[in-house]
This record gives sequence, C-alpha cells and structure tokens, in this order.
Amino acid sequence: MNATKRTAIYARLRELDPSPDTELHYVNPFELLVAVILSAQATDISVNKATDKLYPVANTPEKILALGVNGLKSYIRTIGLFNSKSENIIKTCRILIDEHNSVVPQTRDELERLPGVGRKTANVILNTAFGEPTIAVDTHIFRVSNRTGIAKGKTPLEVEKRLVRLTPDEFRKDAHHWLILHGRYVCKARKPLCGECPIIEWCEYKQKELP
Ligand code: SF4
Repeated sequence: MNATKRTAIYARLRELDPSPDTELHYVNPFELLVAVILSAQATDISVNKATDKLYPVANTPEKILALGVNGLKSYIRTIGLFNSKSENIIKTCRILIDEHNSVVPQTRDELERLPGVGRKTANVILNTAFGEPTIAVDTHIFRVSNRTGIAKGKTPLEVEKRLVRLTPDEFRKDAHHWLILHGRYVCKARKPLCGECPIIEWCEYKQKELP
C-alpha cells in the first residue's frame, strides 16, 4: 500500500472518531494494567463485568494482594484462563509493591518483567495509560493490517514494526484504537462488513465485497 492510501485510511478513521479510547473500564494505570492482563483471550465486555465488581472492593496492588489468589478468582472466574490470570495478577501486585512503590512502571522492560504482561500488554499500557505512540497488535489489528495492506506481516511483531515505521506521526498514537475498533465492528474475522466500510475505497483486500 502506498503512503497516500495509508494516510487517507487514517484520516477517514480519525474523522469518524477523533478521540478513540479503549473499551475497558479503568480510571488509573493500575486498573488498566489489571484489565489488560484479564483481557487476554477474553472480550472487553466480560472483563468489564468482572472489574466493575472488583474495583469498588480492590483497585490497588495492596488491596488485590490482600484478596489473595482465591479471593481474586471469585471476581474473575467468568473470564477465560482465570486461574493463571489470578496467580499472575497477585504476583504482579507483589512486584509493584516491592519494587515500584505500588506504581505502574513506564518503561517497556519493567512492564514486561511483570507476570502476565507480554509485549502486547506493555504496548497497550504505554499507549493508553502513558500516551506513547506504541501500537499493540492483537488479533483484530493483525487481521485488519494484513487484509487492507496497511502493514502486512506474518507475525504480530512483524506487523507491529511495520505499522510503527509506516504510520505517519500524526496518527501513530491513536492508530492502535482505530484499527482495533475497525476490526471489532466492521472488518470482522468471519465476514467483514465491506458494504458498510468507511475505508473500502483504499482497502487492498482482494476478496472485499464491493457494494
Ligand atoms: S473493505 Fe472489507 S476487507 Fe477491507 S477493511 Fe473494509 S471491511 Fe475490511
């Protein structure tokens, strides 16, 4: 895809949604961190249902640590992989208290050392909590990037590097949310809604269904 088309796509997505944000419920970086750990292979809706009950009771590393693994599980057992997520979150709370004064760190290295936090989660935290122009590549962004041709790649890391390199500065901070929302609601996995797609004229997907 050439730079003109790529810019046109981002400009259209920005025009439709000038201030995109995550659909996860949170009010500070710690709540976002826990929500993003919980969201691996789970929907944002299921995570919000759980954290809407959890956070009024426990929304600091100390309070969640005090719940313990089993106490935390009772709030998140409707979410996939809740056993390992509960253990990881408790370990993460312990590290935050012991090594970071109970504050979520702002570097990729420190974030990726927290249990349950991989590159994608670190990118989301850096972008959404701290405003850095990182682009986390999840299943939606991987699909949309490859289908449209905005940044093709065989692995999420390849797509991420290409997106970061090719996305114009003015769009980079919000690119993550625009692409994820586009994938979630329009360019769906099984059947993309090409007839309703606002970027169809620039999309290079060979099987796109012209209205
Ligand atoms: S035209 Fe279809 S395939 Fe291309 S981005 Fe839109 S929904 Fe996805």
